Amino acid sequence: MTQQYAATDIGPPHYFERMPQICQDNYFKWEYHEKIKPGVYMHHGPAGDVYTVRVGSPRLLSIESLRWFAGLADKYCDGHFRFTTRSSIEFLTPNKENVDKIIEEVEEYGFPVGGTGNSLKTLLHTQGWVHCHSAATDASGTTKVVMDELYDYFKRDDLPAQLKISMACCLNMCGAVHCSDISFVGIHRTLPRVLDEEVANSCEIPNLVASCPVGAIRPNPKKKSVTINEEKCMYCGNCFSVCPALPIANPDDDGLAIFVGGKVSNTRKGPSFSKLVVPYIPNEPPRWPTLVKTIKMLVEVWVENARPGERYGEWVERIGWEKFFELTGLEFTDKHIDDFTFSVKTFRSTSNFKF
Ligand code: SF4
Ligand code: SF4
Repeated sequence: MTQQYAATDIGPPHYFERMPQICQDNYFKWEYHEKIKPGVYMHHGPAGDVYTVRVGSPRLLSIESLRWFAGLADKYCDGHFRFTTRSSIEFLTPNKENVDKIIEEVEEYGFPVGGTGNSLKTLLHTQGWVHCHSAATDASGTTKVVMDELYDYFKRDDLPAQLKISMACCLNMCGAVHCSDISFVGIHRTLPRVLDEEVANSCEIPNLVASCPVGAIRPNPKKKSVTINEEKCMYCGNCFSVCPALPIANPDDDGLAIFVGGKVSNTRKGPSFSKLVVPYIPNEPPRWPTLVKTIKMLVEVWVENARPGERYGEWVERIGWEKFFELTGLEFTDKHIDDFTFSVKTFRSTSNFKF
């Protein structure tokens, strides 16, 4: 099968070459799968059964942990393990008797087994803390403290439905916060500061103007710099990425917002975007207590009130947003109303609240 792909030194090898033999033999012939217990799936095909043990990961893994996982894969899985799109680690084996041995060793090493069925999946987060310019908070730190609090939800699968939580450290949002059950996003709340002299000396004005997604930047030829339209700016920080003379980070005002109700899948109801429920929580490193408490409360209220099978957004849609704010005790403010006044003065896309 793989011979049709030319060997090159560009990119990874073709995925088929890296599949366990049993998966290659069952490729495109799978018949059914079932969940054996939390964290374990069995997939059946004509070439035999494959057992998958799913393990939660903190996403940033040390070389030591990776070597340990590789060793476990050598021992029980003919050298194979894989990462899911949500950064869980999966061990695949055709031998049923290996399943409990893998679980025992993984738990002894200190990682949780779970994340299958109606459970909390491994949290997704972006990486602004490591490399990015526009981050308004620490992605890895906030995600760790939230996951620490929700750890047990990963290991149980008795939630109303699956629960996906995502984090992005700025509005540019290279994660999945627009379509997750619960999301938290780093936000700036003040305009970039225009350091005219440095802009003139170090930034390309056309590039800078083009970097703004809402057209808020205009050239200022007198100063060989730019001006920013305060009404239009949404504090995304994209301009700072192309011009360091427009710093936007502000420790006193940056923080996080929380969204709920998004999903990608087309099951039951179509995909939906996440919606804002908490406009601002301050940055409170190292443990972000207000953020953690609020997300835990949002999970608990959903677990307590949703019907079996209802994803977060489906639950809110059934009970109505008014009831959601009542049950959660969150404050409803003008910030919750979509109101793009800079483009159309009177446009409101959500006018039917009954408060
Ligand atoms: Fe960078 Fe924003 Fe992505 Fe974070 S969310 S890594 S700051 S683009
Ligand atoms: Fe435009 Fe974003 Fe810069 Fe504001 S912060 S001027 S919206 S690029």
